[in-house]
Parts: sequence; structure tokens; C-alpha cells
Amino acid sequence: MIAMPDGTAAPPGAVVKENLLDLDPETALARLRSWLAEHGEPSYRAAQIFRRLWEFPVDSFDAITELPKILREQLTSSFMLPRLELATRQTSTDGTQKFLFRLTDGQLIETVSIPDGDRLTVCISSQAGCALQCAFCATGAMGFQRNLTPSEIAGQVRELRLLASSSVATNIVFMGMGEPLMNWSAVSVALTLLNDARALGIGARHITISTVGILPGIVALAARPEQFRLAISVHAPSEALRHTLMPVNTKYPLADVIDAARVFDRRVTFEYVLLGGVNDQAEHAAQLAALARECRAFVNLIPLHPGGSMGFSPSSPAVIASFARALRARNVETAVRRSRGLDIAAACGQLRTERLGRRLPVVRDEDGHVHEA
Ligand code: SAH
Repeated sequence: MIAMPDGTAAPPGAVVKENLLDLDPETALARLRSWLAEHGEPSYRAAQIFRRLWEFPVDSFDAITELPKILREQLTSSFMLPRLELATRQTSTDGTQKFLFRLTDGQLIETVSIPDGDRLTVCISSQAGCALQCAFCATGAMGFQRNLTPSEIAGQVRELRLLASSSVATNIVFMGMGEPLMNWSAVSVALTLLNDARALGIGARHITISTVGILPGIVALAARPEQFRLAISVHAPSEALRHTLMPVNTKYPLADVIDAARVFDRRVTFEYVLLGGVNDQAEHAAQLAALARECRAFVNLIPLHPGGSMGFSPSSPAVIASFARALRARNVETAVRRSRGLDIAAACGQLRTERLGRRLPVVRDEDGHVHEA
């Protein structure tokens, strides 16, 4: 059976073209060179074509006007160049933009672009939906649909370049929908595409993977030679509380996640969403400070984005400020994130939820435990 890019079966008789956007630069260039040789074309054209996939992207091979027309036609009949279809685009009064993209099989994913001075941070999705069901997160409530392919992950940044050639991402955070380290094989290729100078060329230190603490994924990320950044969604400083907020804590307990963060050879960030009356008390700050010091972690305090966050309320500004003070008093570097895009439902999963309403999870384990995909 011929598999479609998203893993589904192709309809009978369909001609499935290859997707170069799913390949890392080395593999794509090698594939192009062999294809060019078969077509009697010089191999230098491989780099010429590859530049137009990511660095200066085009929406069709026909738009690569520096190539002879016949070659453009041959490329079109051999390879696809899929775009992500823009379903909705919203712009916040603070300049944050939220994009809802429709994939070839109808799945909807979210991408957020956040301008800040001369930086443009793009928050990307790694899965359609999410299996983890963190209690306050809108993506968790919609359940897991499927893993994204490398071209769908890195393609979110490519798509922003296509939509506005001036919008060049300087920073990437894997903080959109999904758990990146439960889709490591695709995320790993996407990381190469985001970072490689021949593709999107974003410095590894400007690319952050955010995870609830999937241990095999942290090991795999640590094994990469590039200095990609790791952020860990801690959200609770004790096993008992974390267990109530994040079911994944059964499989990967806080203690093990902290161990992994401690031995990670680069600086780690802790993400901590402040939930009013739940995890924002003085005792929580003291416990969190101890964990952060153990790992020499930087702490990002995130005000709860209220939309779609079932039964939780944000901590008051005074409580947020005193929580931050308590961490700093214990010598923990702490930042309070500004909530961006409040008027456009910009937190994880909120825009898709707004469009589709709540759905029952498609994949849910019988015993309620989270398993790796
Ligand atoms: N699965 C990964 C990446 C996706 S979520 C992870 O959990 O780290 C990215 C961040 O957004 C996480 O820290 C998550 O806890 C946070 N988040 C989810 N819902 C939120 C909300 N309603 N308000 C503020 N932050 C939220």
C-alpha cells in the first residue's frame, strides 16, 4: 500500500509524488542529485532547487524562474510542494498573530507569531491534539489526533515566510499543540530543517523544545550536538500536586524529570503556569526554588491564559509578584512572562477549540495512562 505523507493509505490509482520537505537537507540534496542525474541535468542544480524549498521558499516549482521551464515541469511531475492551508488568521492588538492551518487530511493546527522588538518568536505545533490531558490545557481537552510530519512542523515557519516574506522567525518555541518529545522522529528532522543554514537557518540556541518531561525524548535531545534549548513544564513542585494536574506524572514522575534536567548538559528552563489558589502559595515557591537550584534552572512564571482552562483561574498580579520575589530571594533566576494575545485565544489549543468546540479524545488509553506514540 502506498502511504500518504500523513500516514494514511493513498486512494487506489493515485500517483503519489515525493515530498522533499519531509527530508533533512543532506537527504533531500542527495535525492535531488540522483533525480537530476536521471534527467541528464548537472548536479549543481540540486543546491539551486533546495534553496527554494526553505531559505527563499516558493509555492510551486514553476515559480523557480531561475530554472529552465522544462526542468520546472519535470520537478512538478515528480515532487509535491504542499502548503499548509490557512483556515483562520487573527491579529491581537499587541501584534501577536495566531494562524490556524488545515492539513491535507483536514486536521487543524495552531501557530502563533509573537513580535518583540527586533525578535519574532514563532510558537509551533508538533502534534494535532495531545494525549497528555494536563488539567488546565485546552489542547489536552481535545485529545490526540495524530503526529505531525517534519514538513508540517517546520512547514509552519516556511508558511509564514510564504504568507509575508518579511516575516522571518528569529526564535522558535515548541509550545503550540502537542508534546514534541512524543513525536521525536519527526521533530528531530524538523529541528535540522529549522537550524541548518541551507534551510531555515535559525540558531540552535534560539530553538526551544518544551516538554512535560518525556525521559527518552530528553535523552535523544541531549544526544544532538547542537545547542537546542530544553524547557520543562513543571507546573507543580510536588509529586502529589503534579499528579492531579498532569496525568503523565504517573509514567514520568517529577523526581525522574528533575534528575534528567540536572544532568542535561545545557541550561534548562522550568515553565510554571500559576493557577490561582492551586500552585501559587508560599510553600510552592519554596519547593520550586529547591528544585530549580538543584538543576540550576531558569524559571518562567506563566500567568494562566484563562480561555478554555476548565475551572482554573489566574493568580492575581500581587500573588504572581510575590511568588517571583520568593524565588529570587532564593537566588533562582525568574521571569514573569507577559501574557500575549489575550484577545485572540492564543494559548495552547484555544483557537482550535473555539473553532470546533470541545471534542471527545479520539485516542485515549483504557486505563487512563499515557503511552508513548
Ligand atoms: N507539551 C509541551 C508543549 C506544549 S504546551 C509542554 O507541555 O511543555 C506549551 C506550554 O503552554 C506549556 O508549558 C503549557 O503548560 C502551557 N499552557 C497550556 N495551557 C495554558 C494556559 N491556558 N495558559 C498558560 N499556559 C498554558
